Amino acid sequence: MKVNEIFATIEGETSLTGIPMLFVRFTGCPLRCTYCDTTYAYEDGAEMTIKELLTIIENNGLPIVHLTGGDPLAQVELPELVKRLLENNRQVILETGGSMDIAPFVLDNVRIMLDVKTPGSGMAHHSCLSNIPLMRERTDEFKFTLCHREDYDWAVDFISEHRLTEKGCVINFSPVTPGLPPAELADWILKDRLPVRLNCQLHRFIWPDKARGV
Ligand code: SF4
Repeated sequence: MKVNEIFATIEGETSLTGIPMLFVRFTGCPLRCTYCDTTYAYEDGAEMTIKELLTIIENNGLPIVHLTGGDPLAQVELPELVKRLLENNRQVILETGGSMDIAPFVLDNVRIMLDVKTPGSGMAHHSCLSNIPLMRERTDEFKFTLCHREDYDWAVDFISEHRLTEKGCVINFSPVTPGLPPAELADWILKDRLPVRLNCQLHRFIWPDKARGV
């Protein structure tokens, strides 16, 4: 597997915000979002065996492992790694850009954080819509990263069209930073009484000067 970085941090997004966990960032992503803040993970990284990765994870001691990227689903050996992590009693957070099939990872103790790409990302046409019925109530979460009002309106329509609120998953609305002021997005959400979670990146507040490893 090609790994870009491994680090202990505080979860900065979704309803798990604030919880300590170990992040494993894999190299490579099939998408190229306009606002991507991990472009350094497109190519850079080192090949590691599953055994080497498991040893690092085991020695680290944190019980929750967050697999991210890039997009971890681009790693062909990901199903085997997840299987081994679960055998080792780890909880797994799996974060994906949403362009690939999540079906092999719909497992107990795996929480899926699925991006729904908006027009502002430039990647909306790559979303794998067959993932939506697989998302589980009170376990998996959707994330929309919003660049502007047009993205917000598009996301509201998407939620309605795909009946996302009826699924019982948390729906995160993240403002692109810099770009969309969080207060502006908060006003829209409140005005519309929208049942979504305003998702600001806590790690950017804790470590404002760190571009990597947070
Ligand atoms: S899916 Fe994530 S990692 Fe991939 S280009 Fe988009 S923001 Fe970057």
